[in-house]
Amino acid sequence: MSVVRNEDDWSPQTWQQRPAQQQPRYAADGELAKATDRLARLPPLVTSLEVLKLKRALAEAQEGRRFLLHGGDCAESFVDCTSEIIANRLKVLLQMSIVLAHGLKQPVIRVGRFAGQYAKPRSSDEEARDGVSLPSFRGDIVNGADFDEASRRPDPNRMFEAYAHSALTLNFTRAMVDGGFGDIHHPEYWKLDWVEHSPRAIEYKRVVEEIADSLRFMKTVGGQFVDSRMHTGFYTSHEALLLHYEAALTRRVPQRGGWFNLSTHLPWIGMRTAALDGAHVELFRGIGNPIAVKVGPTTKPDELLRLIDVLNPYEEPGRLTLITRMGKSRIAEALPGLLKAVRQAGRRVLWVADPMHGNTESAGNGYKTRRFDNIRGELDLAFDIHAAEGTRLGGVHLELTGEDVTECLGGARDLAEADLSRAYKTAVDPRLNYEQSLELSMLIVSASRA
Ligand code: PEP
Ligand code: MN
Repeated sequence: MSVVRNEDDWSPQTWQQRPAQQQPRYAADGELAKATDRLARLPPLVTSLEVLKLKRALAEAQEGRRFLLHGGDCAESFVDCTSEIIANRLKVLLQMSIVLAHGLKQPVIRVGRFAGQYAKPRSSDEEARDGVSLPSFRGDIVNGADFDEASRRPDPNRMFEAYAHSALTLNFTRAMVDGGFGDIHHPEYWKLDWVEHSPRAIEYKRVVEEIADSLRFMKTVGGQFVDSRMHTGFYTSHEALLLHYEAALTRRVPQRGGWFNLSTHLPWIGMRTAALDGAHVELFRGIGNPIAVKVGPTTKPDELLRLIDVLNPYEEPGRLTLITRMGKSRIAEALPGLLKAVRQAGRRVLWVADPMHGNTESAGNGYKTRRFDNIRGELDLAFDIHAAEGTRLGGVHLELTGEDVTECLGGARDLAEADLSRAYKTAVDPRLNYEQSLELSMLIVSASRA
């Protein structure tokens, strides 16, 4: 399985001959080359065996036998690489995956948007404040968020820090997943007081009781079973935006006959960098990983088909995940044509919905926010549209945290604009908090059954 057959015209450097969007302008002082040479000698963060295992699981999701839960911060930051934040984020993802596995009656593939989610695309190269213009903040892997010249200067050595923080995050995550969290399989220990605040409290309580019952039952019939069904591993993912970094972590694995990006299991190409003839598509067409691409409301069906041809010419199962991010108000007009075109062309992909990025707005008090009802509404519509087109929505892509932040409006506690200032902590986009995330996982189950 995997890999490039046309290596004569591809190498991890051929992207350099293509237009590369969203890259920092590093100084021409030799530091960049020193940094990438050194990075290229460091050990990989993940292995090709893990990457191929995920690809097989995604192939099953494509066939309707698994569901993908893909979630985490919009942007990780170095200061948030703490035991508490990492553990809480992992816990909420694991709890959501239990709700989904139970409700959808199929195994859930858990993929974190972390251990490498440090580079951000920006709408403008420069940011101006009070007549001063500086390079935009592009994520901790590139420059610092503070608005001063020294912080905003792109520094290639930040790539080491990103590599190191990714390794620290991954190490702690692997230890927690392998060691097991005692309280994950006991919903009676989950934080559920928010349920009382919802008009759907009775329904939510029933879901939690059913999960608790079935977990108790499985434990009675054999503890092993609980683990083998629920413990399907944990994978990492990030937007593979900063090409110098991604290329330095792209390695040849002779035993598997090809190249892999070993900075993460599932790299994805963002909406702003998915041009067919662009540098990102060039680098990622050559690797053996499963890859994902974000698809927005302006993508045309024929463009999408050409992208599928370039990224998955041999129709490998599990190779390509398309993450649609349309917005609640545009999905009904934008999604059906794409689903139809891909189905009629006989192409197989895993369709995933990102209900976050098309639903960002400014609150009256200036905060960048998203409404829980729009997030949920886009997901409901995505399930309906797939059902009508005879395709399958096989996963969700969410921006979330395990912390009690106030960044998105609504949810069981009905967060209002006035609540946003209480705990607005995101480095870039607003995330669902612990309670909103768990609630959304319950609503995904209802939407999938509707
Ligand atoms: C993101 O996932 O944070 C992002 C920038 O998404 P998109 O490429 O879909 O806009
Ligand atoms: Mn985002």
